[in-house]
Amino acid sequence: MQNSPISKIILEGREFFVKRDDLIDPCLAGNKYRKLYTLLNTPNNTYNTIISYGGTQSNAMLALAAMCRKKKWKFIYYTKKLSATQKNEHEGNYAHALKLGMQHVEIENDYYKEFIASLRLHVNEKTVLVDQGGAVQEAKKGLEVLAQEIREQNTALHVTALATPSGTGTTALFLALALPEYRVYTTPCIGDSAYLKEQMNALAEIPSNLMILEPKQKYHFAKPYKELYEIYKSLHVKGVEFDLLYAPAMWQALLEQTNEKIMYIHSGGVSGNKSMLARYKKKGLI
Ligand SMILES: *Cc1c(COP(=O)(O)O)cnc(C)c1O
Repeated sequence: MQNSPISKIILEGREFFVKRDDLIDPCLAGNKYRKLYTLLNTPNNTYNTIISYGGTQSNAMLALAAMCRKKKWKFIYYTKKLSATQKNEHEGNYAHALKLGMQHVEIENDYYKEFIASLRLHVNEKTVLVDQGGAVQEAKKGLEVLAQEIREQNTALHVTALATPSGTGTTALFLALALPEYRVYTTPCIGDSAYLKEQMNALAEIPSNLMILEPKQKYHFAKPYKELYEIYKSLHVKGVEFDLLYAPAMWQALLEQTNEKIMYIHSGGVSGNKSMLARYKKKGLI
């Protein structure tokens, strides 16, 4: 794999660099590519099955489906019961993952938690359980590879700070640990800062160069908000498309709360935009 390229964009009069991890692959891009790096580089015959669980719009689900297709591994994905509308969607991550061969299993909502906890008992030497969102220790290596690319490419740019949005916080945490000489900004897109820190602490001790920016407004994850769409659009017209779930809140926090030269690590997720934009339209927000 070649290093992903760097783009420059000017936003509100400020210069930003963007590490284009979105360009790595249409389905297996962004931080999901980095987090699955270790598995991707494991010989095909080491495993035959990957199991995971979570939401049906998840970018991690699509990335796992694309990886398993490449590796010729079976992919079983567990979710709660789907609504009829979700089942009939013809585009978006869910439809796409099914086309890539994902075997989807719905679990009754009442038993879901218990069932997910029991999955761990079913792993064997040929089966790997990837926790929701790819929040696993194995993600560390892929982020060290990203860190090395950043070091090489930054010799010409001289940025001292990086930024990437957080769900589980796995990406931001391992990136900050791999690059102690940089400030790494992130912001919680799911839940608040306390919840984000809790999830990070489960993986490793949070280093002092990791800066968690507290959002000035509270947003519900994956709900359409006019102002988030406006940020998405103002970036899109500059030539880079970002995802609608995570990136807008990160950019908003950077514009409001920082002033140095920053390299934004594109976290991918653009494949989910089509169905998100349809929801914005349906709500009359665009
Ligand atoms: C999964 C995802 C994130 C969150 O990554 P974490 O490592 O869970 O914090 C951010 N942005 C996009 C586009 C994602 O798909």
